[in-house]
Amino acid sequence: MSILSFYNVAFKGLSQGKHIFDYEVDDKFFHEFEGGLVDEGKVNVRLTLEKQSALMVLWFDLKGTIKVQCDRCLEMYDQPIESQDRIFVKFGEKEFNEGDDVIWVSTNDYQLNMAQLIYEYIGLAIPIKRIHPDDENGNSTCDPEMIEKLSKYVIEEDEQPNSVWDDLKKLLDNE
Ligand SMILES: [Zn+2]
Repeated sequence: MSILSFYNVAFKGLSQGKHIFDYEVDDKFFHEFEGGLVDEGKVNVRLTLEKQSALMVLWFDLKGTIKVQCDRCLEMYDQPIESQDRIFVKFGEKEFNEGDDVIWVSTNDYQLNMAQLIYEYIGLAIPIKRIHPDDENGNSTCDPEMIEKLSKYVIEEDEQPNSVWDDLKKLLDNE
C-alpha cells in the first residue's frame, strides 16, 4: 500500500461541520511523485474540511521548508514556504466547469485522497525566483566559491568575438 493512502479522508462518515486533519509531509511523501519540483522538504499541512449538506469546503494551510536549487549559485538550500488555499468539492457524475477551485467527486465515493492536492499546493507555494535568503545582516548566504566560478564563466562567455560587450566597447572607445 502506498504511503499516500495515509492522506485518504473518509468524508462520508463525517458529521456536518468542520473537521481538522494535520499532516507532516516529508521526503518520503515527495519521493512518491516522480520528476517533480521537490524531492526533499518538511511541510506541516493543516486541512480543515467543512462538510455541508451539498458540498464540502477544504482549506489547506501549509508551512515549512523545501529543498530547492538556488538560481544564483546553483547550490541547494531550504526555502521557507507558506500558503493558504481553499477548494470546493462538489458531488455528481458529470463535471461542470466551475473554475479551478472546484473538484467533482462521484456520489458513490466515500473517501478523497488529499496527497495530490497537497503536492500541487506545495508546488504553487514555491517562489518563482529561488535565491538563498540573506542572513540577519543582509548579506547573501550564497556559496561564494560557486559565485566566483560562475562569474568567471560568464566573463569567458562575454569574451567571444562579436559579443554585445565588444560592440559596447567600440561604442565607448569612439567617445
Ligand atoms: Zn545561492
